Amino acid sequence: MIETNFQALDINELDNEEEMATPQINQAFLQSPWYADLCFVLLNLQAPPGLSRTKKRFLKMKASKFCIIDSSLFWKNHEGILLNCLTLDETDDVLKEFHAGDCGGHLYWKSTADKILRARFYWPSLFTDVKKFVMSCHKCQIFEGKRKLLPLPLKHFSTERPF
Ligand SMILES: [Zn+2]
Repeated sequence: MIETNFQALDINELDNEEEMATPQINQAFLQSPWYADLCFVLLNLQAPPGLSRTKKRFLKMKASKFCIIDSSLFWKNHEGILLNCLTLDETDDVLKEFHAGDCGGHLYWKSTADKILRARFYWPSLFTDVKKFVMSCHKCQIFEGKRKLLPLPLKHFSTERPF
């Protein structure tokens, strides 16, 4: 029996709509200026029209660090760990919670940013926003530079008997 190429490819499987369907993504990402172009690349496998060749190339390189899973957008860090991409509306709550909330502690901005990343949250202006937020935190301004206690002066004391 001679097997044709069509049979070898099992052409019926290519018509399976589920496998060929374009991935769905939450509308919030498509409307976000941070992610709209990236989502276009991920959904259409090409850069949006009207961009220069350099910008298209840059965008494709950037998009290679993102992926869509269950309609959500994820950013892959240098260790290959997927971090949840947040939209602008969601960042404020995360900033408040991780700096001044229950899991906060009014830490230095770099430590706060590190905490957010370790909790697997990401957005493009994360470091700038965290720094701005911490610098404008009233409690942190009051206690700035007063976190460390000065060493007490050494004093001589006499002992009456050995310990
Ligand atoms: Zn603070």
